Amino acid sequence: MNEPIRVAVTGAAGNIGYALLFRLASGSCFGPDQPIILQLLEIPPGMGALEGVVMELRDAAFPLLHGIVASDDPNVAFKDLDAAFLVGSRPRSKDMDRADLIKINGPIFTGQGKALNDNAKPTVKVLVVGNPCNTNALIASHAAPNIPNTQFHAMTRLDENRAKGQIAKKLGLSPGQVGNLAIWGNHSNTMFPDFYHAKADGKDVVTAVGEAWGQGEFMKTVSTRGKAIIVARGASSAASAASAAIDHMRTWWDGTAEGEFSSMAIYSNGEYGVPAGIIFSFPVTVKDGRASIVEGLVHNDYAKSKIAATAAELSQEREAVADLLG
Ligand code: NDP
Repeated sequence: MNEPIRVAVTGAAGNIGYALLFRLASGSCFGPDQPIILQLLEIPPGMGALEGVVMELRDAAFPLLHGIVASDDPNVAFKDLDAAFLVGSRPRSKDMDRADLIKINGPIFTGQGKALNDNAKPTVKVLVVGNPCNTNALIASHAAPNIPNTQFHAMTRLDENRAKGQIAKKLGLSPGQVGNLAIWGNHSNTMFPDFYHAKADGKDVVTAVGEAWGQGEFMKTVSTRGKAIIVARGASSAASAASAAIDHMRTWWDGTAEGEFSSMAIYSNGEYGVPAGIIFSFPVTVKDGRASIVEGLVHNDYAKSKIAATAAELSQEREAVADLLG
């Protein structure tokens, strides 16, 4: 058995937190030989509900759960961290547009970035889920100069999983038979799910599904899936978001299999013509805890225009929070 690792979850009493914590404690993310100490952060009004979640975690008697810290102080919750899931974020209300959301959530991530800088291990793996996750990750990274910017990721794995699910359904396969499905760009409806480079059962997806379906129904279904689930269920897609967060962190922790890539929103250094200095989802391979952007993929004009549009949106988001990137 390994030494326990310290894993933080923010917004721990929220919907995604509730779906995430029990899987972390059961070993679904870091493996069956890795004990963990959960360090849970909530805002003061959420502390009562968090107490209930902590009671349930204890009642589940997970053998791998070696400790629980619950706090409304990030300097306590982020002490000596090995990994962090930054989920807590103010949800968008009806009268708010994306720019308002960015302005409201930005300062939260400045504070949390600073607390990570002051308390976490410099090797900490930080996955931002709270929206707008790409730009929130950028803000947190800027506030944490002692932690390399490679250690801040944002989650587009849910978009990848949704895209794989749609292709698998269309072709009558299981999602595990669909691979190398890259999400490019922002976790918003401008993201580009790249069906051109995806493989299903070892064959080219685009040949199997047809370009018209890929550019039409597939793109529309994947980019509007969150809204469709809210309409159908009357509540947001918290369980699949939590599951995708587990998938992202497990891939970061364990690495990608030979010949396979996955989607992670990471710091751009100008790859594929994407502006440097934004957190952009790329296809990556992971080895020894380090994500490397897959090189040499060739895009047609359609894909290039999609990638340019989502990059432009992220550049605008960066402009909107320029005062927080100091
Ligand atoms: P959720 O747990 O459902 O969602 C949390 C965040 O994840 C939101 O930003 C949400 O964005 C985002 N998200 C990403 N992908 C998805 C997806 N597929 N489905 C749903 N959400 C997704 O929110 P709750 O309101 O239930 O819980 C949030 C918790 O965070 C609360 O307990 C609250 O107390 C806490 N909080 C903490 C803050 C802080 O740390 N300072 C500030 C505000 C809240 P989107 O809104 O776009 O769906």
